[in-house]
Amino acid sequence: MKKNYMFTPGPTMVPAEVMLAEAEPIIHHRTPQFSEILKEVGEGLRELFGTDRDVYIVTGTGTASMEAAVANTCSPGDKAICVRGGKFGERWSEIASAYRCNVVDEDLEWGRSFSPERAAELLSQHPDAKILCITHSETSTGALTDVEAIAGLTRKSGTLLIVDGITSVGVHRVEMDKWGVDIIVSGSQKGCMVPPGLSFIAASERAWEAIQSSSSPRYYLDMRAMKKNWSDYQTPYTGPVSLIRALRKALEMMREEGLENLYERHRRLAEASRAAMKAIGLNLVADNPVNGVTSVHAPDGIDTGKLTKKMRDEYGVTIAGGQGHLKGKIFRIGHMGYVCKEDLLVCISAVERALKELGYDFEFGAGVSAAHSALFGVHLT
Ligand SMILES: *Cc1c(COP(=O)(O)O)cnc(C)c1O
Repeated sequence: MKKNYMFTPGPTMVPAEVMLAEAEPIIHHRTPQFSEILKEVGEGLRELFGTDRDVYIVTGTGTASMEAAVANTCSPGDKAICVRGGKFGERWSEIASAYRCNVVDEDLEWGRSFSPERAAELLSQHPDAKILCITHSETSTGALTDVEAIAGLTRKSGTLLIVDGITSVGVHRVEMDKWGVDIIVSGSQKGCMVPPGLSFIAASERAWEAIQSSSSPRYYLDMRAMKKNWSDYQTPYTGPVSLIRALRKALEMMREEGLENLYERHRRLAEASRAAMKAIGLNLVADNPVNGVTSVHAPDGIDTGKLTKKMRDEYGVTIAGGQGHLKGKIFRIGHMGYVCKEDLLVCISAVERALKELGYDFEFGAGVSAAHSALFGVHLT
């Protein structure tokens, strides 16, 4: 018998309660019943985003909402500063190019965080920039960005701040309104513990001015249609009824846990995971790490493609390898969403065993021991 554990930074494990909600009989999307569900889900999303603005649900994964953010705010030729510190930051730049923006790429070494100081420099060099696109939690490297500090700068400038919060919403505290973020997007299959297929987007008042006046072509992702329909809790096209039911259940579970506890749990899991990796002699990829994923440099001579395959196929424990130029060189442990302290011990022990079998020489058990200490204050040795 083998059980499958997913410690991937998306998609993530889905609670049985959420899967059961998804399995409920279909209802029509143009009904008061469905509108009632949308209204409730909208409330839950607003809490997670830290906003009084409406949060729209897009049928499409996180990238769909990223595309919506650019397509709706920029007109061809508008200047877009895109921070590329990893795979997802690069995606901002690709989307902005596709919409014919005048793209200013800000390249960072992968693993480094975009600093508020650098943001200030860029904003003064490019006062004409329409948007600044950043990644709150760069899942490919595990680096965290100080969105609050950067929003403090953009809100005083004419540049809109667009944030990829796909692996931060539901993991880290997000305060869209207080911080002054203009657009933030997230997705269903990361911290929200729902299967892939939905994404979420909210826009500030000044972002709405840009949305109304953008001349970029858009149809399915037109936020004006989302807004119009949301005013009576409708979706512009057929609503993804089952996924939204799943989301309603997941949001209910998050609310039951309490947002403070939710963020604290992620902080603990991240702390334990980092301590475990350091205890077995490995280095983290990020200087300033996020709480949803731990990115780790593999020991010399170990290909993380082999590591992840062994763990998945032999132990039933899935973690992620590296992306882009870090493929084969790093591995990533996802601990966002439906992951508890006990689960993390399963993951750490599986990582240790696989590394041992692949020939890495270290004090076997030191990672699990460090995780125990960090999670429970219990010391094994
Ligand atoms: C997963 C992810 C995305 C994109 O997600 P899709 O859902 O695959 O479209 C974008 N940004 C970040 C930071 C992510 O983790």
